[in-house]
Amino acid sequence: MSSSKAFSADFDSTRYRLLTEASEAKDGDCVLYWMGRDQRVEDNYAMLAARGIAKEQNVPLKVVFPFYTSFNDMSVRQFTFMSKGLEEVERDCRALNIPFMVKVSSPDQVAETVSEAAKEHKAGAVVSDHMPLKIFKEWNAAVAADLDKSDVPLFQVDAANVVPVWVASDKQEVGARTLRPKINKLYSRYLKEFDKVEANTEKCDLGPLTNWKEVLGSLDAKKVDLSVSVPSTFVPGRTAAMAAFQDFCDNKLKKYADNRNDPNLDVQSGMGPWIRFGQVGFQRLALNVKKLGKYSDGVAAFIEEGVVRRELSDNFCFYNSNYDTLTGAAGWARESLQLHSTDAREYTYTKEEFEKALTHDDLWNAAQIQLVNEGKMHGFLRMYWAKKILEWTTSPAQALEWGVYLNDKFSFDGSCPNGYVGVGWSVMGVHDMGWKERDVFGKIRFMNYNGCKRKFDIFNFVSKYEPAAGNALAAGGEIAVEKKAKKSAKKQKTK
Ligand SMILES: Cc1cc2nc3c(=O)[nH]c(=O)nc-3n(C[C@H](O)[C@H](O)[C@H](O)COP(=O)(O)OP(=O)(O)OC[C@H]3O[C@@H](n4cnc5c(N)ncnc54)[C@H](O)[C@@H]3O)c2cc1C
Repeated sequence: MSSSKAFSADFDSTRYRLLTEASEAKDGDCVLYWMGRDQRVEDNYAMLAARGIAKEQNVPLKVVFPFYTSFNDMSVRQFTFMSKGLEEVERDCRALNIPFMVKVSSPDQVAETVSEAAKEHKAGAVVSDHMPLKIFKEWNAAVAADLDKSDVPLFQVDAANVVPVWVASDKQEVGARTLRPKINKLYSRYLKEFDKVEANTEKCDLGPLTNWKEVLGSLDAKKVDLSVSVPSTFVPGRTAAMAAFQDFCDNKLKKYADNRNDPNLDVQSGMGPWIRFGQVGFQRLALNVKKLGKYSDGVAAFIEEGVVRRELSDNFCFYNSNYDTLTGAAGWARESLQLHSTDAREYTYTKEEFEKALTHDDLWNAAQIQLVNEGKMHGFLRMYWAKKILEWTTSPAQALEWGVYLNDKFSFDGSCPNGYVGVGWSVMGVHDMGWKERDVFGKIRFMNYNGCKRKFDIFNFVSKYEPAAGNALAAGGEIAVEKKAKKSAKKQKTK
């Protein structure tokens, strides 16, 4: 982190870090905001930073969005969600007389695209937002190296976390218990109302509207699965997000603290997809729930998830570049998984069987069907689901890979730090501790069907996803309804 004369005095210098040797905005024709993770105009510190520098320099702000034609295991489902959200961003930019330029680029070309845009528009400074995934780090490093050749600074702003990831902690945290006190200390300093983005006052050529159909049509069909459906469960864009959030505040927040782990009670916020694509920032949600002045338990639980847990995921990916492989696990977990990697597995499934929900377990199948049909699995079931992938694959490395693959292909909120950490927690004990040693799992925390039964009515959940039970029977399993009947017969006998 360093301060720069580019920023006005009231911009918090700890929100950004400088990625170039060059540290001061040059005379230029504009300031360029390279939008990546934080795909919104309002409540976006990167946008505000770029606008602020532009104002200091007396030049307009321009925004470039390199639309990557593939990204990890993202399918057409998430790309559609992203592009529709960006349509709203484009409208919001134009309303502020800010040019918004979408440049279709393969992942290999993203850095070049940004550098070229900076040159073409004679940017005196470039601002990027922050995503701790490897490919974003590589893109930023490449852009910084290129900008240094012409003495143009690149400022990177953490606009996704309430407490910037590099401020919250200077190292990989052990878990929520070690990050929480650090965040709590800094939280009120950073949880502030946002300024409004000022319109460009200069005459700006806004260019033609983006042809979004053409942009979506440019996806790399070799890498992006175009056959995945796009359910209407989550309506893209900030406006829809805020409407869904209002519904959460009005109807669900009061039950959130006690019931968020019951998959039959839909009381989670469902904000994951919008947060993932930065269509809303969690800081806005935190500010709004605090303003309500009621449901204090619900508010506290929501902030714990959205600030402490979410920022813990960013912390992990920021400080551990092996977040997506077993190498990223703690020593105890790696050793234990290795020791048990050759244990006999009672069941094993192929990737296709998992994808098609063809296991012997009706609950697992129902969760997978929910993911495929609705684009998001209930948070509690995500844990059970990923742990069973560990139990029913031939190696932990395979389980990690397939868990990430299925999450990223089908979940609207996949392909992000929370996804890697969620699967990592389940499969390789990230942020967890060693538990009683058992087959296959070693010391990784175990979850089972009976445990779920104690928490919620499995039969009720499974019956919402019809093929789940049939698939389980076909795979030789028992189903919730039979288990229920057996249990009550047993009870009768013992009376
Ligand atoms: C195997 C597995 C995979 C997961 N994959 C993802 C993923 O791809 N994307 C994703 O955002 N989350 C993921 N999670 C974390 C969590 O399950 C989801 O964030 C949550 O269920 C999203 O639903 P919601 O928005 O209704 O959550 P709410 O309970 O309403 O929480 C609000 C927000 O807080 C954050 N949050 C909530 N729980 C967690 C958590 N445990 N860890 C980190 N942040 C949290 C999310 O940003 C969430 O949107 C995963 C967890 C597991 C176990």
